[in-house]
Amino acid sequence: MTDGLRATAAVFAKPGDALSLEQKEMPRLQAGEALVEIEQCTICASDLHTIRGRRPVGGPTVLGHEAIGYLRAMSPELQKGQPELKISDRVTWSIIACCGNCDRCEAGVTQKCRELKKFGHETQINDQRPMGGFASHAIIPAGATIVPLPSELPTSVAAPANCATATVVAAFRTGKSCHDQTVLIVGAGMLGITATAYARHHGAKEVIVVDPQEERRSWAKEFGATQTASELSAVDQDVADLIVDMSGIPDAIEASVSRLNVGGILILVGSVFPARPVQISAEQLVRKLNRIEGVHNYRADDLREAVDFLATASTIFPFESLVEQKFSLDRVNDAIDAAESAVRVAVCPGLDREK
Ligand SMILES: [Zn+2]
Ligand SMILES: [Zn+2]
Repeated sequence: MTDGLRATAAVFAKPGDALSLEQKEMPRLQAGEALVEIEQCTICASDLHTIRGRRPVGGPTVLGHEAIGYLRAMSPELQKGQPELKISDRVTWSIIACCGNCDRCEAGVTQKCRELKKFGHETQINDQRPMGGFASHAIIPAGATIVPLPSELPTSVAAPANCATATVVAAFRTGKSCHDQTVLIVGAGMLGITATAYARHHGAKEVIVVDPQEERRSWAKEFGATQTASELSAVDQDVADLIVDMSGIPDAIEASVSRLNVGGILILVGSVFPARPVQISAEQLVRKLNRIEGVHNYRADDLREAVDFLATASTIFPFESLVEQKFSLDRVNDAIDAAESAVRVAVCPGLDREK
């Protein structure tokens, strides 16, 4: 299946080092695994945090998780578990692999599986099995979910499906239906912009987006924001039925709470880095019947919904324009530099093949 295949992978050794392109003999697939040929991998903020040393990940590893590609080989176990998959399908896949049998998997929180494997943004599970998207090919481990992509879905729209989009779907699933609700989104990066479009697409009455950067606020308007503000103090108290915080900034989270309507829900998504504890009024939560929940990663059904959402929403909102630049794999380090100041930059191994 993978016999004799040599892949090119951009290997991360340690923070501060440029990624180095290495040839890797692809190993024979093990039970449950798949081999994909990478079409495109967008660079996520967490990739940048790892490369710049702000996120502790040990090398050597192949980073890149917002990837899509073509299914080139499947183990019999995978084919049995996901009979809808066919060789040559264009696919996205979950950024985690779970066991499917532990108490957490059985409870539906597969992203917190007791045997959880993360790949493409963590220390390599096994040096001989390159699983990251900054490569010509990658192995998808057993226990990941692979989802076929509609052929009409543009490459640049589909690539972030398994990170930003699926996380946004999980956030709204945890919160509540947006229909006829006032939704407040705090932070308008890739996640916030996607959440804005999601809320609008699902019938929100108002979508208020707060971000200090003017450029991001104008993106938010293009993705369906009905009102934008540079800071939360400009937003009325008690207006929001649902708040999704993508910022993770304690000051913003504290200011959000008083914007909750009676019965309102605050979903925390952005708090994935160390920060000071937040101070909130328990009395206010009680009297206003508010709820605060954390959302981290997502389940398989969220990824499937993310693909369906992008297939329709990309015809309404300019998702394709969020990928501002594309680089071939041999220019992966230029791509990383460019990604520091863009919503999304893509690495496209297919561009190398076309040369
Ligand atoms: Zn990501
Ligand atoms: Zn499990």
